[in-house]
Amino acid sequence: MITSSKREALTISSCPSCGSAAIRKIKGKWTGTFQGKTFTVPGLEYFSCPKCHEKVYPPQAMRKIQESSPAYAKSRLVRRAS
Ligand SMILES: [Zn+2]
Repeated sequence: MITSSKREALTISSCPSCGSAAIRKIKGKWTGTFQGKTFTVPGLEYFSCPKCHEKVYPPQAMRKIQESSPAYAKSRLVRRAS
C-alpha cells in the first residue's frame, strides 16, 4: 500500500471518448465556456484529443478554471438572488 501525501499526476494514455492514443497533454492558454461564461485561463494544463476534440481536465485544471471563472468569482462576492 502506498501512503503518500504527494498526489500522483494524472496521466492519460488514451482518449476516454474515442480511445485514440493520440490524446496529449497541452499547456497553454485555454479559452472555453464554464457555467455559461466564456473566458480565458492562461497556462492551463489539460489533455486534448486531436481525433474527436475531447478535452480532459485534471482536478488541478478544473480548480484553475473555477478560480478563473467570472461566475465563480462573482458567486463569492454577490449572493445569487434567484
Ligand atoms: Zn478522442
